[in-house]
Amino acid sequence: MRFQYRTLAKAVRRRTASSISPPPQPPLVLPRYFAHLSSQSTEKRRPPPRRNFGIAFDIDGVIFRSESPIGGSPQALKRLYDEDSGAIWIPYVFLTNGGGFRESIRALELSTLLGINVSPLQVLQGHTPFKNLVQRLENELVVAVGKGEPAAVMSEYGFKNVVSIDEYASCFPGIDPLAPYKSWEVKQAVFVVSDSIDWSRDIQVLCDILRTGGLPGMEIGHQPQLYFAHDDLAYKAAFPSERFGLGAFRIALESIFNRIHHDPLSYTCYGKPNPFVFKNAEAVLKQLVSSCPDSGLAPNNASTAVHNFERLYMVGDNPDVDIKGARQAGYPWFSILTRTGVFKGTGNHDKFPAD
Ligand SMILES: [Mg+2]
Repeated sequence: MRFQYRTLAKAVRRRTASSISPPPQPPLVLPRYFAHLSSQSTEKRRPPPRRNFGIAFDIDGVIFRSESPIGGSPQALKRLYDEDSGAIWIPYVFLTNGGGFRESIRALELSTLLGINVSPLQVLQGHTPFKNLVQRLENELVVAVGKGEPAAVMSEYGFKNVVSIDEYASCFPGIDPLAPYKSWEVKQAVFVVSDSIDWSRDIQVLCDILRTGGLPGMEIGHQPQLYFAHDDLAYKAAFPSERFGLGAFRIALESIFNRIHHDPLSYTCYGKPNPFVFKNAEAVLKQLVSSCPDSGLAPNNASTAVHNFERLYMVGDNPDVDIKGARQAGYPWFSILTRTGVFKGTGNHDKFPAD
């Protein structure tokens, strides 16, 4: 069992040291987007943008269905850029509950699929707010769950001791691997970064971790902190009907945990419709505007950006997530509901009608 502990420790060290490949360079960095937005190019074709509004686009069911663009979404997004310089004309972000990959990777993928230059700053995924927990858990051992590269995501955010659930589970091949771990009193946290691809294995291992204080096989202990990137029950993919999302996995985990443990599962869900996500998106949109030379704001200084939007549009396909979130966030958010994804009604949604 000592060997297994060393295996786990090695996995953590390996990840923090070298397993995270450097993120790809975005096609352009933001200052360059705006550096080209000179009076020469703007006078020719359009008046200077007022930038009193910004846009947040959901991705699944709005821009893409699986990897296929919906309708004329690439052409529509291109209109947010200056045709001559390629600079961003209207500040916008992608605000998705999806994830599993680093923002830099996702930005490169979106750039390729859509034929535009997307900055990592413009990609706000369900797990993006996890980076705000680095100060609290930077040196704690944390377990990352989900499809894609969840451990790489957490490491890039600045967490120093990250292990994927695959690596974690591989260190517990037996049913009683516990004695050597009794002195290993590390507070842990679990981050469910994206969809689990092996529900039965992950629910089993997570229940082990959560009910023992992070030491599977030990006595009942204090539940480590548990964070979900979002709580979407379903999402629209290529299949005709919706697919189960992270919210469905959360329900399954919570149901089982609450049957085997005396205290109910304690957890925090980020992602839409959490109002924090919309506040963060507004801050990023302000940062985008402040990077613009003609904005009158200090460049690259989001903390002091005083730009105020008159309106921020949330374009989404899921009333329970996109529309509910924008409504809860309030002014200056304004919700737009598409019929290209989860919502298929002919009128407005009954419970969470779009503006
Ligand atoms: Mg969607």
